[in-house]
Amino acid sequence: MPTQYINGNKLKTHIKNLIFPVRCPYCGNVILSDEYACKNCIGQFPKSYYKKYAAGGYQCVSPFPYSGIFSRGVKNFKFNRNKNYAKQFAVVMCQCISKNYYDCSFDIVTCVPMHKKMIRKRGYNQAELLARECSKILGVPYYDTLEKFKMNKPQHSVSAKERETNVKGVFRAIDKNCVADKNILIIDDIITTGSTLGECAKILTKSGCKTICCAALCSVEID
Ligand SMILES: [Zn+2]
Repeated sequence: MPTQYINGNKLKTHIKNLIFPVRCPYCGNVILSDEYACKNCIGQFPKSYYKKYAAGGYQCVSPFPYSGIFSRGVKNFKFNRNKNYAKQFAVVMCQCISKNYYDCSFDIVTCVPMHKKMIRKRGYNQAELLARECSKILGVPYYDTLEKFKMNKPQHSVSAKERETNVKGVFRAIDKNCVADKNILIIDDIITTGSTLGECAKILTKSGCKTICCAALCSVEID
């Protein structure tokens, strides 16, 4: 009889971590599988969160600015197929969400959708991955509530002024019954001018939801 019994699942996780070590999303150093960042990067986390208003006056909070180690982390997550980072980012997002929206009780967590052509190209919608992980931590169900049915120019390629018109009419509600009378938390990866989140929130409002709060991983400071 072995003196030490190793649980099958624990062993699988251990082997997986040896082959694919968990990395700090901000610097790439190997960290323990239950950590969400290395100590050095945690030391650089902002002490307070960022608050912005999306178009239409919907409040949005973010734990990070879109600069330095944080923009590097989110770019690696978005463009380099580091899907696993969603889990670690969500821990920090949920700390920020709980601090700011402490008096809100959400019924649904949802995300800013991506056009299916873009999902095919990238392999995933990073906002959806963040929203699904936040939903697990917050214990609030995740639903796809919106779809992007028209392609538009990427928001980063148009001027701040054009961003609002660029997102008009590209999203629609999937099922109004699913959002009617609900308190919704909508998540995106980055908030810049807030046109995209604002347009999504507007459609959810028109679909009859009760309240909407927004959260993004990074907030771009605009001069
Ligand atoms: Zn680090």
